[in-house]
Amino acid sequence: MNDKPKIKVHKADSEAARLRSGLLISTDDSGRERYRTHCDRCETNLTLRMAPKVGDAILCRVCREIEAVGKPGTVVVYEKKKRRFRTPCDECGTEVVVSFLPKQDRPFTCAACHQAKPPEAVEEITETAPKPKRHYRVRCGVCRTEMRLRFKPNPGERLLCTDCFEKASTAKTKTRPRLMYNIQCVRCGRKQTLDVVPRDPDNALCTNCMEIMRAKRRR
Ligand SMILES: [Zn+2]
Ligand SMILES: [Zn+2]
Ligand SMILES: [Zn+2]
Ligand SMILES: [Zn+2]
Repeated sequence: MNDKPKIKVHKADSEAARLRSGLLISTDDSGRERYRTHCDRCETNLTLRMAPKVGDAILCRVCREIEAVGKPGTVVVYEKKKRRFRTPCDECGTEVVVSFLPKQDRPFTCAACHQAKPPEAVEEITETAPKPKRHYRVRCGVCRTEMRLRFKPNPGERLLCTDCFEKASTAKTKTRPRLMYNIQCVRCGRKQTLDVVPRDPDNALCTNCMEIMRAKRRR
């Protein structure tokens, strides 16, 4: 007797129309039917005891686990027969292949985004009289130099060390045009251009008259 199961591609009766397409129906030695199909997600071959109907979602064990606890968008891939998971980075969406299943409730970032993320500020209390001083250790967003702050930085805020701050602000003043204010002195009538906003533009003094008034007040 042939011990290999007989394979039928489809059933002749009306039941066939309701079955999932691409199904291989075989019969085992004891005459029971087995339904060979594949996982909807990863194409892994599966043998089922129940006939899958049109529209039934068929998932393998791994894909069911991804569905239940994995990060949305995760797919299982097989590299040299080894199981890997391909998951998009939470930050930039780049797909990363890892050996573990990234979980729904945990952050998952690619190496680049992980490095770019500013580290959490570390709170530090120095015991000095009369009050303990609170410090926050954080790294510069540009050169990564560690610095101590007296205030708690906002989460995700990009902080710069004094060097980088200076570089950034000189770069800014180079590109940004300086604002000038034209005034007419209320005392002497002279017109002048100032590079600061006059406190009271309608009663502005020229720099010369300002000096005179200041000198008078001092006396
Ligand atoms: Zn699967
Ligand atoms: Zn990323
Ligand atoms: Zn810096
Ligand atoms: Zn004047």
